[in-house]
Amino acid sequence: MSRIIGLTGGIGSGKSTVSRYLAKKGFDIVDADAIAREITAPGEEVLPVLAETFGADVLRADGSLDRKLLAERVFPCPQAKQRLDEIMHARILPRIIARTQASRASLCFMDVPLLFETGLDRHCDETWVVTADLATRIRRTAARDGTDERHIRERIASQMSDEKKIARADRVLDNSGTREELAWQIDELLKAYE
Ligand code: ATP
Repeated sequence: MSRIIGLTGGIGSGKSTVSRYLAKKGFDIVDADAIAREITAPGEEVLPVLAETFGADVLRADGSLDRKLLAERVFPCPQAKQRLDEIMHARILPRIIARTQASRASLCFMDVPLLFETGLDRHCDETWVVTADLATRIRRTAARDGTDERHIRERIASQMSDEKKIARADRVLDNSGTREELAWQIDELLKAYE
């Protein structure tokens, strides 16, 4: 059985960058966002549930999910957001747990933006949080997604704060510097498992 490490961090902190580096080193990665896409592919069982709950137009004519419309519809309404999370988490969380438990790599990382909020951290042997200063996160997210600063700030404000995540995590990676500095920190953490 693998040692299971939960990897989390806020928007634009660098979780995916850390995951990719770890995958290149040969460790297993279970990616919550990829599973969310997997379970909402055309023909999947959750799609009619989403259409019934949030409006038939969240599905396009070809049966694919209009993620942008769904996000725009639920984001302003906390109850709708909560309902969407319930529907999705009920399907995503068991898959994440099953896949990490089935891993045969020495280390298996679960890359989960809402690791603490969903309680998935209880299924990990330990947790790592990726952080970076706010201005850097906003700048990198804006450059990556082409979204405006106000929108990114709103999304960051709706998430658990970095301070709270850091308080709960076993290890912290500070990604305010260069990619090389991040890689060096990851290598330092990995030494503990050699
Ligand atoms: P989200 O939760 O929003 O999907 P994330 O935490 O997975 O974000 P990444 O996508 O890894 O974050 O990083 C955000 C952006 O910043 C990406 O475009 C990435 O290539 C870039 N980036 C990450 N780390 C660095 C770094 N140290 N220096 C420069 N750019 C970086």
